[in-house]
Amino acid sequence: MTDCLVENARIVTDAGLRHGSIAIEDGTIAAIGPELSVSGADADRVLRADGMVALPGAVDVHTHMHDPSLFPDDIDFASQTESAVAGGVTTVIELPTQTPVTTPAAVREKRDECAKLAHIDFGLVAGNVQETGTDVAGLLEAGVPDFKTFTAEPYRADDGVIVDLMRDVGAAGGSVRVHCESQAILDRARARLEGTDPTLYPESRPLEAELEAISRVGWFAEYADCPLHVVHISSGSAATVADRFTSRANVPVTLETCPQYLAFSADDVEARGPFLKVNPSLKSAEEVERLWQALRDGTIDLVATDHFPTHRADRVRGWEDIWEPYAGVPGVETMLEFLVSEGVHEGRISWARLLELVCARPARESGVYPRKGSLAVGTDADIVLLRNDPWNVSADELTFNGGWTPFEGRTWSWRVDTVIADGAVAARDHDVSAEPGDGSFLARGPCATGE
Ligand SMILES: [Zn+2]
Repeated sequence: MTDCLVENARIVTDAGLRHGSIAIEDGTIAAIGPELSVSGADADRVLRADGMVALPGAVDVHTHMHDPSLFPDDIDFASQTESAVAGGVTTVIELPTQTPVTTPAAVREKRDECAKLAHIDFGLVAGNVQETGTDVAGLLEAGVPDFKTFTAEPYRADDGVIVDLMRDVGAAGGSVRVHCESQAILDRARARLEGTDPTLYPESRPLEAELEAISRVGWFAEYADCPLHVVHISSGSAATVADRFTSRANVPVTLETCPQYLAFSADDVEARGPFLKVNPSLKSAEEVERLWQALRDGTIDLVATDHFPTHRADRVRGWEDIWEPYAGVPGVETMLEFLVSEGVHEGRISWARLLELVCARPARESGVYPRKGSLAVGTDADIVLLRNDPWNVSADELTFNGGWTPFEGRTWSWRVDTVIADGAVAARDHDVSAEPGDGSFLARGPCATGE
């Protein structure tokens, strides 16, 4: 018996949109194609998708959702995975924030806490590594193959520590993710600025800080034979620098960018102020255009969000003093609608490219492909239906409980209609029916290598 039949969708494939239906049994895809032997009469539930686009649930490989020592009580893995599934993200890879996750015991503790709260399946990243001697083998055994470290404060590691980490992780079959900004440049740029106005913020984190650090860690990775994942690339020029290593190194280099760097430039900070306080900072409008080009031509490998949830009341303090609030924006719920509306609908990327950027490549990079990030017989039935239906973006229209979005006031042409996670309807029109505990921990093996 078929549990659910998604009928007459436009399914996103490598070759573009194809008409078809999808039959779901026991949480996995039982059949998919233009003509199924299964009919609506054989299914417990039929979802008519006429005119809607079906995509695998998105895989967001960069979120900060759970850290009781940092976030207020109502911002935790329950409320934030609820926001994720509302927006069509059905898998998240969660990174450490303030609380270190650098031992197998810490992984097990975070895994068990998050599993009780998770609306969707999730994996964990270890970090933030600031000292040599991390138990890399133990962490891989605990299902965590990637390791986060920083070249900048507040979690900065010395260059030697980063090289040591890369040696150990590369030998063990893992991957290192680095936040790339040069602390030397950041310190000097900040020291030259006086005042508290939000428009100072982009100047405090110049383009060259990112270019220098990416170049440095690129050579570290090549020297240490370690797969490198450059997180949140904020400019087209930085993508070009990172790409030097993808073409010459004998180890894979993954390039990630985030919606905020595609949607906004430093010119937008005057109007949106602290709602665009992000690290790395926003760059020039020319750099944003170059970043779209890098997204289109394959230089950028994947889009993730760097989702960082805070309350509106905390963030507005930045109008008075931009140095006050934490940097970072909530983004997990809006990533897909942004990329479809401002990317695919505006002709900047194709549907096939979208599939690669937010489903297939992030799933491969995380070691969960094809179970996640693809629609094929036998894979997890994680499906998003999108409808072409213009709407005005507002925090009121979202499930996110912080009360704000950097995209407030944009008009988007596409909206997430229905989300299916592990075979069950999990959200409709941003209204979530999945429950905490529905998701489970994805123990991941050694990282997939590149393609
Ligand atoms: Zn981050």
